[in-house]
Amino acid sequence: MVRFISNPSSGKMGYAIAEAARQRGAEVILVSGPTNLTLPAGVKPHSVRTACEMHEAVMREFDTADVVIKAAAVSDYRPKQFIPYKVKKTDDVRMVELVRNPDILAELGQRKGKRVLVGFAAETEELLANAQKKVQAKHLDMIVANDVGQLGIGFQSDENKVLILHDNGRLEDLPLMSKQQLAHEILDRVVERLRGID
Ligand code: C5P
Repeated sequence: MVRFISNPSSGKMGYAIAEAARQRGAEVILVSGPTNLTLPAGVKPHSVRTACEMHEAVMREFDTADVVIKAAAVSDYRPKQFIPYKVKKTDDVRMVELVRNPDILAELGQRKGKRVLVGFAAETEELLANAQKKVQAKHLDMIVANDVGQLGIGFQSDENKVLILHDNGRLEDLPLMSKQQLAHEILDRVVERLRGID
């Protein structure tokens, strides 16, 4: 691909979660778009390039999963038309028509069964209200919400400061911590869910 629509997400959060889950003995499949990160030892990779490929991969792996943690910053839209060559510039204004990508997590929510589903919400405004809507709308057990409008946390950084909102309304305001630490905090809560403690 010569040009495409993407965002500054580094993949660090997802990789940290995969590594932490593996350290705890889980069998881990990491569905990942292009990153510069090293695959954690013992983790099975499933590499994708586009949101549609990610949709297909996640649906394929979903049946065997007990837990899905969806940290990927998936593009909501893609260009309607894929042009397999480099488009030359002209003096004209060009329009790109965008169509919706499938909402992978929302679809998983529909087929959730007994699985634990964790979503992420990157927001620049109304962090809590938007996170609350997503927990309900996507049938999640919990959502990890971060304010990507703040410098030094979220996209690309090594640290993150998040709220964790549970489907029963419990809200936790976690302090700033490394993405590795946060991965373990998230997994502690997933384990509670799996054991039916929460
Ligand atoms: O609605 P929003 O994109 O903010 O929701 C974020 C959550 O939904 C994240 O967990 C993200 O991985 C997931 N998502 C998805 N497919 C999309 C868009 C978001 O799975 N097309």
